[in-house]
Amino acid sequence: MSIAALARDEVRALPLYAPDMTPCAIDVSDNTNLWGAPPAALRVLADVPAESVARYPSLYSTPLRESILRYLGLGGAPGVGVVTGCGSDDVLDSTMRAFGRAGARLAYSAPTFSMIPVFARLNGMEPVSIPLTAAFDVDAERLVACDAAVTYLCTPNNPTATPLSRAAVEYVAAHARGVVVIDEAYAEFSPDTFQELAARHERVLVVRTFSKAFGLAGLRVGYGVAGRELAGLVERARGPYKVNSLAERAVLASLDEGDDALGWVRAHAALAVELRERLVVELRALGFEPLPSVANFVCVPTPRAQLLASRLRERGVLVRALSGLSSDVPALAASNGMALRIGVGPWAVMQQLLDTLDMVKG
Ligand code: PMP
Repeated sequence: MSIAALARDEVRALPLYAPDMTPCAIDVSDNTNLWGAPPAALRVLADVPAESVARYPSLYSTPLRESILRYLGLGGAPGVGVVTGCGSDDVLDSTMRAFGRAGARLAYSAPTFSMIPVFARLNGMEPVSIPLTAAFDVDAERLVACDAAVTYLCTPNNPTATPLSRAAVEYVAAHARGVVVIDEAYAEFSPDTFQELAARHERVLVVRTFSKAFGLAGLRVGYGVAGRELAGLVERARGPYKVNSLAERAVLASLDEGDDALGWVRAHAALAVELRERLVVELRALGFEPLPSVANFVCVPTPRAQLLASRLRERGVLVRALSGLSSDVPALAASNGMALRIGVGPWAVMQQLLDTLDMVKG
């Protein structure tokens, strides 16, 4: 029997995650913090004691979990727990492992974070997608009617950058029978956040990350906040020692109040929001129609996404070209399900992107 035949069907069928990583002078393709990382985090990384490397990290990131609750304003909330992970990917994957029995459904709205159906299949679950509405909201009743073991919501949503309405999120949180995951990877850029639902509903897990606003994507730390019982079950499925000690130290430093830590994060998130609005105006002036964004990136539906992305790449600018987006969503049907996704960064970078786009748009 071949090695491939020995593997699980779900694994054999899975393509590797392979975004375009061509090295480019300007890379605005992955929604990370284009200003860098908080100085306080970089300082602790530059001065790592030997035992931090020679010994294992904490089992389940206990000191970090307390700082995270304080950061979320849930420090005193009774019964609320945190589960950390190697990126929020790990938390999402572990949640499916904890709650997805073989063949159980994972319901989500399309388009959304592309790894969701992948993690579902790898965990033996059946991904079921319901298109976003014309207003880029979830169809809450249809989603609940899927009767899924895990329902995934993403707000601000990747790749559209649009928010979900509070009414729809609250409806799903109150009515879904299984676990409800609210992925808020881009919460720091959004006017509305949902972490308090984790304190109110025992089946809700709010997932966040240090990869975006915090500028620490290379360290791979994410977390989920939920009732203690739910967070504890995800943690069991996750396993011990998943956040390495260097990452834990740097993240802890970034959560301190102070201009070089949380102050830095907040100031750069605010700057990203300000420059995002400026970018949208300039993209419109070039004839594009970006979707309304509440994240640190914009989604620009265009049937020429692949062509434009490759012309931009030839000139040293990397953006994400998306295809196969749900064409049940009217704005995406008009672009044949294709779009460019552009991360927001320092204005000099945005200006270069705009100048190059103007040159190649034809
Ligand atoms: N959720 C969403 C919506 C994302 O866009 C991403 C990263 N692209 C992730 C989760 C995973 O991020 P990380 O594993 O770096 O925390």
